[in-house]
Amino acid sequence: MKSLPTFSLIGIILITAPVACRQKPSMRQPAARPTTTIFTELDLPTPNSIRTMTGHPGPAYWQQQVDYIMDVELKPETNMVTGHAQITYVNNSPQQLKYLWIHLEQNLMRQDSLGVRSGRRRVQDFTEGIVIDSLSQNGEALQYAVHDTLGRVELPTPVEANGGRITFDVHWHFEVLDGDTPRFGLEKVEQGKVYEIAQWFPAVAVFNDVYGWNTLPYIGGGEFYTDFGNYEVSITAPRDYIVVATGVLQNEDEVFTAEQVERLTKARGSSETIMIRSEEEVSDPASRPSGQGDLTWHFKADDVRTFAWAASDAFIYDACSLDETFISSAYPKEALPLWEDSTQMLRTAIVGYNKQWYPYPYPTATNVSGSEGGMEYPMIIFCRGRRSERGLYGVTTHEIGHNWFPMIVNTDERRHAWMDEGFNTFINYYSYGDWFEGQEGRRGDADSFARKMVRTEMVPLATYPDRSPGRIRGTLFYEKPSVGLVMLREHILGPDRFDPAFREYIETWAFKSPQPADFYRIMENSSGEDLAWFWRGWFMETSMLDQELVDVTSKQQEDGTISTTITVDNLNELVMPADLKMTFADGTTIIRRIPVQAWYLSDRNIQQVDHQSRLISVELDAEKDFPDIDRSNNRWDAPHPPLQ
Ligand SMILES: [Zn+2]
Repeated sequence: MKSLPTFSLIGIILITAPVACRQKPSMRQPAARPTTTIFTELDLPTPNSIRTMTGHPGPAYWQQQVDYIMDVELKPETNMVTGHAQITYVNNSPQQLKYLWIHLEQNLMRQDSLGVRSGRRRVQDFTEGIVIDSLSQNGEALQYAVHDTLGRVELPTPVEANGGRITFDVHWHFEVLDGDTPRFGLEKVEQGKVYEIAQWFPAVAVFNDVYGWNTLPYIGGGEFYTDFGNYEVSITAPRDYIVVATGVLQNEDEVFTAEQVERLTKARGSSETIMIRSEEEVSDPASRPSGQGDLTWHFKADDVRTFAWAASDAFIYDACSLDETFISSAYPKEALPLWEDSTQMLRTAIVGYNKQWYPYPYPTATNVSGSEGGMEYPMIIFCRGRRSERGLYGVTTHEIGHNWFPMIVNTDERRHAWMDEGFNTFINYYSYGDWFEGQEGRRGDADSFARKMVRTEMVPLATYPDRSPGRIRGTLFYEKPSVGLVMLREHILGPDRFDPAFREYIETWAFKSPQPADFYRIMENSSGEDLAWFWRGWFMETSMLDQELVDVTSKQQEDGTISTTITVDNLNELVMPADLKMTFADGTTIIRRIPVQAWYLSDRNIQQVDHQSRLISVELDAEKDFPDIDRSNNRWDAPHPPLQ
């Protein structure tokens, strides 16, 4: 960052006594370009028949399929969840597999977990983690070993390549703590307990064409990465509990009262919110089906990458619909009055994303208020959001936005947090105005981000989440990619070129798993722009932008026109187009763009402009579209009063 504004010393305009371009004493010589520059081609993986040169899946693309049939029981007296899963694993890879890796993410809650011992997770409360009660295939016990949050399951008969399948059974249980637990939890409220249950069952790890098994442990920073599958889940809970979950409820008549079933039917045809169980009704036993014993809720969900649920005896429940999608909210009275709007907020956010990017493909969407501040799962999101309308809409649109990234476009969250948090924050930026008419989004502004870059010790945004400092998580994975994509969309490519490219990325990779190179390639091929400099400068490195207006010299021509020469330097590693705004004495302005290609050969660019009216000022990036870290060297004003 430069501390001295230098241009003001030399920006003297001489019209009546023209002089030749005057050399500024301090004017430095542009540096010679090294052979590898910010413009050099990216070193991306060689395209192949699985992932092609255009960033599309090729003819040999494959991914694994994992289907789950689960029976689980919630016991509020002990806070225990007990489950049984029948897991069917389909090996679509070209390789035979002799063992499977499974995620046992509740083991993060153990006192001896990697997350706790590495200092990544700082908590006081611990559990035994996930306890595997049995693991078997056709009634025969399977050998397995547990390594922190991963388990390796030995298969007596390998699962064959190209469509081979196996089915096995697992029984497990774990305790839900009342306290600080990541991405799930329990909240005690006045009228009962709210359970939010996620990352809770033994789930087969991803096996893919890039890394083989995804065995990065669950330490706390990286969220989750799993294959698509179909789920049938039966959840048994006390009769006075309401359960909401990923997927479609199959036995409404058994778990709601007749009156509530009528209300649910009404909600299915209503864009307005219909109350299913009101605040007053929560304390009324008649608001739950009469009879004895627990109730079992059956849910089905297809093509999802995990399954999450929530249960409470204190839930107020309301719903509406958007075409074929049933939208609902479940919350305790502590979330009122803000949560009266939750269902409409959820609906508004989905309408916006449908229109702008890709239609929401799932039959349900549910917002839950409990202990978790904000976390996303397919068709269900956990949003605390009880303080302000802006806070609740912000977290709701963010968490449901995750249903596009990474629930539909399935990315590796243990490695590439920017591909879900960043892309999502980018689409959220445009979603704010859908609820707060005329208001700007958060986390998309290049100018304020530039100040943040200067005072923050940044690492490349492509850093894996568990390897980047927690304190810059929001800046790095959410804000920086969002700012970058807003810049690319609005000021580099323009929406006409950006939007079709970004939509092509989503459509192409919906229900598949792209890698970073696939994204870069689709965006370049579809928009028709070589963006190596942009990906390298903004996504892969931590370089900063400083454009400098070095010199403005005008000279009157014989025919009366004025010829002005403007010298612009690019002082740092990062490059961007440079917009020169020229304002003339007659009130007119011109914006001239120096394209990024100007920096191919030199970090100095000289523009010549012929004009009639006297030049009053020149400003670089007057609209603050680019993240220039030092704006003190961006402006030139004609000396006043002008020489006659
Ligand atoms: Zn997020």
